[in-house]
Amino acid sequence: MTNSNDMPLAAKPIERAAHRRLDEAWLEDAFAHKDTLVLVMRKGEPFVLPGRESGLVWLGPEIARVSPGSPRLFLGEDKNGTPVFAVNLPDNFALDESLLAGAGEFRDFRVAAASIPDMDANCASTARSIFMWHQSHRYCSKCGSESAMVDAGWKRQCPACGTEHFPRTDPVAIMLAEKDGMALIGRQKMWPAGFYSCLAGFCEPGETIEQAAAREILEEAGITVDPATAQYVACQPWPFPSSLMVGLILEASTNEIHVDEKELETARWVSREEMVSILDGTHGEIFGPPPMAIAHHIMKAWTEKGH
Ligand SMILES: [Zn+2]
Repeated sequence: MTNSNDMPLAAKPIERAAHRRLDEAWLEDAFAHKDTLVLVMRKGEPFVLPGRESGLVWLGPEIARVSPGSPRLFLGEDKNGTPVFAVNLPDNFALDESLLAGAGEFRDFRVAAASIPDMDANCASTARSIFMWHQSHRYCSKCGSESAMVDAGWKRQCPACGTEHFPRTDPVAIMLAEKDGMALIGRQKMWPAGFYSCLAGFCEPGETIEQAAAREILEEAGITVDPATAQYVACQPWPFPSSLMVGLILEASTNEIHVDEKELETARWVSREEMVSILDGTHGEIFGPPPMAIAHHIMKAWTEKGH
């Protein structure tokens, strides 16, 4: 059974304590508290323990001296009630010349997230999405003035026209079509040789997630599915930069593949036996997404269907 609460990047979330976000005095005290926990990022990459150790480097109030004035996000409180923050260091932050030298290293998010504890991954994922949103939404989309980060990082407000801007999360349908005991997988040209996964696409305005899934399967692979057959598997927040991947399995009514080469290099039907071997790495010709990605769990859920 697949459960979104167990999904990598979403599992073991901390209490967001949203009521603290407007309490400036509490936030200042919390950030300066000796027990406070602070993760740092640079260009979307989390600062992690060096070498073979696994986990984020959790800093304390000394972070205020490392890079004063860097954007600060209040992530919430851990199970002990300890405040948890994230700080976004400038792109040109020179690690080796800083107080953090020797404490850890900035690592590619996907690589880091695959090996750190669930809570660390959830915090880093949230921080990555929010910081990237701030960087790409600096100016008010209504009047063009520069807006300001408010509410401990969870909102921007325009000082000129007063408009509030909230961090976005874009729904993406990610799915398998199935027919006669086979499931449809595909690959994009840019992916490593032999790598196949679920099809996926953004939900458009005016669409349900089931309709988006059906449209994408038709557009990308020429396969017709009825949105009414969609079965929900699970969902996963995905910080590249800010998607909510909604996993579905749908029944196809046709099986002749016509690939749109702008979207996919190729697509194919695979049996349950093949899917099992793809997931456990013994297929020989095809390999699939790692357990950090929801696609892995959708494919696995399909192999378990009807058993
Ligand atoms: Zn404005």
